Amino acid sequence: STSSKLLLLFTVSSGGLVAYSDSRSQPDEVPASIVNKNDGQKKKVVVLGTGWAGTSFLKDLDASMYDVQVVSPRNYFAFTPLLPSVTCGTVEARSIVEPVRNIIKKQRNGEIQFWEADCLKIDAENNKIFCKANFDNNTVGSEEFSLEYDYLVVAVGAQVNTFNTPGVKENCHFLKDLEDAQRLRRTVIDCFEKAVLPDLTEEERRTNLHFVIVGGGPTGVEFAAELHDFLIEDLVNIYPTVKDLVKISVVQSGDHILNTFDERISSFAEQKFGRDGIEVQTGCRVVSVSDKEITMKMKPTGELCSIPHGLVLWSTGISTRPVVKDFMEQIGQGKRRILATNEWLRVKETENVYALGDCATIYQRKIMDDIVAIFEAADTDNSGTLTMEEFRAVVDDIIARYPQVETYLNNQHLGDLTDLLKDAMSEDKKEVDIEGFKKAIHLVDSQTTSLPATAQVAGQQGKYLAKCFNRKNQCTEHPEGPRRFAGPGGTRHFFAPFRYKHFGQFAPLGGEQAAAELPGDWVSMGHSTQWLWYSVYASKQVSWRTRMLVVSDWTRRFIFGRDSSRI
Ligand code: FAD
Repeated sequence: STSSKLLLLFTVSSGGLVAYSDSRSQPDEVPASIVNKNDGQKKKVVVLGTGWAGTSFLKDLDASMYDVQVVSPRNYFAFTPLLPSVTCGTVEARSIVEPVRNIIKKQRNGEIQFWEADCLKIDAENNKIFCKANFDNNTVGSEEFSLEYDYLVVAVGAQVNTFNTPGVKENCHFLKDLEDAQRLRRTVIDCFEKAVLPDLTEEERRTNLHFVIVGGGPTGVEFAAELHDFLIEDLVNIYPTVKDLVKISVVQSGDHILNTFDERISSFAEQKFGRDGIEVQTGCRVVSVSDKEITMKMKPTGELCSIPHGLVLWSTGISTRPVVKDFMEQIGQGKRRILATNEWLRVKETENVYALGDCATIYQRKIMDDIVAIFEAADTDNSGTLTMEEFRAVVDDIIARYPQVETYLNNQHLGDLTDLLKDAMSEDKKEVDIEGFKKAIHLVDSQTTSLPATAQVAGQQGKYLAKCFNRKNQCTEHPEGPRRFAGPGGTRHFFAPFRYKHFGQFAPLGGEQAAAELPGDWVSMGHSTQWLWYSVYASKQVSWRTRMLVVSDWTRRFIFGRDSSRI
């Protein structure tokens, strides 16, 4: 690794680094290849994760150019948008997964090695990662190993965020991966089987059949809708004696569910849930969860209230995985909430580590600087404070330029920070301290400026990075062009920075109805949108095999209903 660093240094000093020459003169992106083609050695690319970002990178990478090693604790890719459908048996778990080895064997040009293991540590100093295989049964030989890299692609996704709420880890369900969905499916059936046991009081039966969903984002709403469909289409016939005791509640700390969607969708969903008897409780923050009760604080009054539950799904957002947190400490990003990359997906403060998908955010310093400058400019008398009138005008100006700030203000996941911002804007305040507000703005920088944590973003980033890696040698070998690679004077190469293209988002709402927000401010809701949803999700499957399986699961459900066995 020392020799590779020296070579890299040499390449830098000889002006061979790839650079993007837009007006901001950003530094290099995928560093120029330093592979000596004649010695037959290939650069080692290690990819962590086989989710949306990792697999889309692997599918498009020209593996003949590199020695590619992939590490992931799951040897499959899971189509996460259909996880809520797995929780109630609308589709089967195996229908939405594709083995990683099937994906990598499709590489025509080169070979990719896969290791089923967790990456426990990234050693940024020595370009090494440490891994541990984690099998249920005993394995013979060591389960620990390390790998060296020349380029590291971090695509490990994120983990659920419990906000350190007492009892959540122990007593709640999550819906982040396939195991979670399978566990939820079993517990839903358990709740019904428990509720029909003899000698239970009606109150006990009601408690067993109270399903609470914490978080009114797309995942929570979709699970509530799936569960409601399962209930009215299948379970009422199987458990007729308790059908009137079932209750589904969605607890949301913000003012509306689906608050990252268009207002029309959010109110359509609330009305539909109202008609379906799904209770939506807004303005409540959960403060603790025990095995029997969930305790909430009502926002306006601060009053505490506890309700008994049979199952709680916690789906309030995501946070950084420990392996990434540790890496951030090593490279001086310890104070950030999420790993920052530049617009070319290279991790800031590193030369050869790239991060994509949910585990990272593109840090656009410029936006933050603009926001702070708008505040400072508004303080014409240099008093360090703004009147509420001035302050509101500034916030309106910022939101007009950066609409994502408004989304942030409504974002329930950010808890205290949202409160801080809302407090700064509260009616009874006479003036606002600019320094305090600037601090708050900086604290939330990644959230206000980052792209949404979606499969769409992760998939596009993987594709983009593979394209950059595939062109690396071309850039080094032809410093004079082609034009799209060459900077002024033909001396430097450049790639265009990553640009996200939004194709819209869906929210299935149950009862064969869905809502969609499509580019161009186009909103569509109802039964026809559900058919659009079916076609889009069928077409987005990673292989013909999973496409066939998913479509046949949907057909089976239409004809025979869902399977309620607890297996
Ligand atoms: P992931 O897909 O989570 O993949 C992370 C990978 O890293 C996994 O293979 C994991 O096993 C691996 N890994 C974890 N830890 C380690 C480690 N220590 N070492 C090595 N590997 C590791 N997005 C949409 O665009 N549309 C939707 O409809 C949609 N619906 C969703 C529904 C649900 C229920 C959920 C949970 C998510 C949904 N998303 C949706 C979001 C989308 O799934 C994520 O944004 C996307 O999965 C992010 O991709 P990723 O590759 O960054 O992470």
